[in-house]
Amino acid sequence: MAQPEPKLRVLIPAEQIQARIKELGTQIERDYPNDPLYLIAILKGACFFLVDLARTIQRLTHIDFIGISSYGKGKTTSGEVKLTKDLDASIEGADVLVVEDIVDTGITLTYLIHVLEQRKPRSIRIAALLDKPSRRLRPIQVAYTGFQIPDQFVVGYGLDYAENYRNLTNICVLEEG
Ligand code: 5GP
Repeated sequence: MAQPEPKLRVLIPAEQIQARIKELGTQIERDYPNDPLYLIAILKGACFFLVDLARTIQRLTHIDFIGISSYGKGKTTSGEVKLTKDLDASIEGADVLVVEDIVDTGITLTYLIHVLEQRKPRSIRIAALLDKPSRRLRPIQVAYTGFQIPDQFVVGYGLDYAENYRNLTNICVLEEG
């Protein structure tokens, strides 16, 4: 039998996303007195945010990517996390800004920050485009948040469902049938 088509409802339109990223970029630019700022995106979802954010920061930046798997293909994190792709370079003594698409339970970032802190960066902070605070299981400090959203599964602007929808410019709620 044919599956019902999922419906997409726009939650945050593209213009609003870009305007907020510009504000975050201005704030980040002011907060970091030293060059370079080391931006690390968590694959794959945060790449879109990193690219747009980096272009709003008028100072020397380095970019790198890290891969994390949370053992899940559905809409929830399994709670088990492992590194699937490491950084290309050392971050010792660097000012690191971890760029994430969405903070949900906080399990992924808690793990990642623990891994990165062992590499002795000078500072480490988090920028997350979206935050679902009601879902938090681990306390995590997010220095730069784009939008707080309710507990709904969202796609677009890097976020996927089974690898689909990452290229949408709006952030949408995925509603069944
Ligand atoms: P956490 O470890 O904080 O529970 O989960 C973070 C990761 O879960 C995100 O990087 C993202 O991959 C995934 N995630 C959490 N909420 C959503 C959501 O609403 N939509 C999508 N597409 N992924 C989500």
